[in-house]
Amino acid sequence: MRHFYKIVIFVSIFLFVGCGFHKVQYTNRTQFISLSPSQEVRLGLQASEQIKKKNRDFLDRDREFLARVKNIGRRIAKAANRDDFNWEFHTISKDILNAFCLPGGKVFVYSGILKAAHNDDQLATVISHEIAHAIARHGAERASMNQVLGIGGQVLSILVSNKAPIYQDTFALAYGFGTNYALMMPYSRTHELEADKIGLILMKKAGYDTREALKFWENMSKVSGRPKNANDFFSTHPNNKKRVEQIRKFNEKYAR
Ligand SMILES: [Zn+2]
Repeated sequence: MRHFYKIVIFVSIFLFVGCGFHKVQYTNRTQFISLSPSQEVRLGLQASEQIKKKNRDFLDRDREFLARVKNIGRRIAKAANRDDFNWEFHTISKDILNAFCLPGGKVFVYSGILKAAHNDDQLATVISHEIAHAIARHGAERASMNQVLGIGGQVLSILVSNKAPIYQDTFALAYGFGTNYALMMPYSRTHELEADKIGLILMKKAGYDTREALKFWENMSKVSGRPKNANDFFSTHPNNKKRVEQIRKFNEKYAR
């Protein structure tokens, strides 16, 4: 019986933390998120500070590249129209084929991306794609899924083994993802396609040529095909045929 109360308390905390179903802006997909937006933004800020510290020798070193990223980022951010975000744009001078945006609008672009982004429209493709992941709260959605699985596991372990749950572990999953948050966990295909879709909408709204999005992903496939870069972007952003199809359809629909 003692464990029953523990489960009740645990689930109550979980509910109190602010779990619930939300609709994704632009696509209207229903998602389950157990973090409140302010908790999520706080985590984003924390991760951002860690990343800046870890990369301080490589941060914002290339002034010209930084100016481009800032200029493009601000245009996309304006199109996104999120006053609750505190936007920041940074570059990391490392030969890594990747970029990411943390909750709350902290955007980081590795200089390695220039191998695939050959002009501002192509650079806008990857920046708006990453901003779209943040707007659609994909990171929080992944963390929430982990949390749910964690709680399921805890409840099961109490019922099965009659052992006390280790509360900290579950919360660590939701709150302790820090640097790994954006860099390690792969996005699902659903998240990828959604980020592409929202990214295209923002890109177009910001006045960029969305036809260049196709070229950018083509370049990415070519460059990341080389063994040296094989594990950067596509390990965290799975690619597929549907991506190309969706971008084509978008461009046909909004052909100028
Ligand atoms: Zn992605």
